[in-house]
Amino acid sequence: MPNIPAGDGRLQNDDAPQLGADLVPIRALIEAERKAFVEAPDDIKRAGYFCAYTPPELLNAAGLRHARLFKAGDPRTVSQGERYTQSVFCDFSKSCIGAFEPGSGDPFYRAVDKLYNFHTCASMKRASEVIEQFVPTTLFNLPRLRSEAASRRYFRDEIIRFRDDVAALAGRAITEDDVRAQIVRYNKARRLLKNLSELRKRPNPPLSGLDFLELVRGYYYLPPETLIDVYGKLHRKLSRLRDTGARPVRLMISGSIMAEGDRRLVALIEQEIGARVVVEDHCTGLRPFVHTVPEGGDPFQALADGYLDQAPCARMKPLEDSLELPAALAEEYGADGLVYVYLKFCACYGITRSAFVGHFQQLGIPVLELSSDYSHSDHGQLKTRIEAFIEILTDLRSEAAAGTALASRHGDSPRTEEQLQ
Ligand code: SF4
Repeated sequence: MPNIPAGDGRLQNDDAPQLGADLVPIRALIEAERKAFVEAPDDIKRAGYFCAYTPPELLNAAGLRHARLFKAGDPRTVSQGERYTQSVFCDFSKSCIGAFEPGSGDPFYRAVDKLYNFHTCASMKRASEVIEQFVPTTLFNLPRLRSEAASRRYFRDEIIRFRDDVAALAGRAITEDDVRAQIVRYNKARRLLKNLSELRKRPNPPLSGLDFLELVRGYYYLPPETLIDVYGKLHRKLSRLRDTGARPVRLMISGSIMAEGDRRLVALIEQEIGARVVVEDHCTGLRPFVHTVPEGGDPFQALADGYLDQAPCARMKPLEDSLELPAALAEEYGADGLVYVYLKFCACYGITRSAFVGHFQQLGIPVLELSSDYSHSDHGQLKTRIEAFIEILTDLRSEAAAGTALASRHGDSPRTEEQLQ
């Protein structure tokens, strides 16, 4: 597999590290939680939610079983959902509908007593309006102008409405102290996840992009106390490892949701081509874990502020905010290039792609733009395009390394990679 050594730009073979055995405990915990969600003979109500703007702090404070519903990627479930939509909906939204369909849907989705959705894109709003016929559903509003004081007051009201709905489902009151305690716990879990991600800043990261997505999957199924324990142990172990081995080609992935069953692009990059995803700017990767929620003051305003301040998705305004974060992450994590990927018919990321791509090109960061769906028919085409992109990045690194070596022999200042493009 091709890797770029830090200094001279020559290609070498080096296997990307996979956590493997280290992921066994979290996978077992997720599976146990999923099983209990479907089968546990208890009276605890089950809540599902779609979007990373939903505060699990309130679901946990109510003592509900809860999970983010982002398992998608199966073409059969997409066609089940397509019977209720037009084909111009993205495959994720169609899959969400298909998974709730009585009789043929996913048993995990079918076990949900109540679905919560925050209005992000139009497709998902429509999807929750269809799903309403299968399971009780409440849709909340999410202000787009996240910096406005009025948006923050309004979102606090929506958070209160969410609290009341969740408390009614659980059949118990949620106090301010309950919410404060959950904010502290979830912040701790989010910080640990961010710290784990930061280990990927090393020249040869001790965990792969696929590994990190698996850790994020845990966040959406497991209670914060469990996450703190699992993430903490893993972080202690990985941070003690020495940073050895060759520097791989480092990629950032930005764009629309990468569902739990739709990791084939990352698998292709890491396992078939041998490059490494070192950071993501999407809502099932690092993006929701860059910020934390304020721990003092009114806990409902804190949730409103904390979730509006999280790294924004492309649906939020101003769009510049959604461009600045990925640019900063690409620099911090030393990404050689960006893969911008969006689902076909995605109204948010399909439309904003030119702004993203243009912004990165201006910064001198090479970009590969891909659109995909859950049909799996484009594997060969994706592989060819990614391989060609990796080759360009490899050449650029080699030229930069050669320029640095030549400049130091002649006592010149080294040329930057940007100057070479
Ligand atoms: S943002 Fe795009 S990918 Fe995500 S649900 Fe909406 S339309 Fe689908």
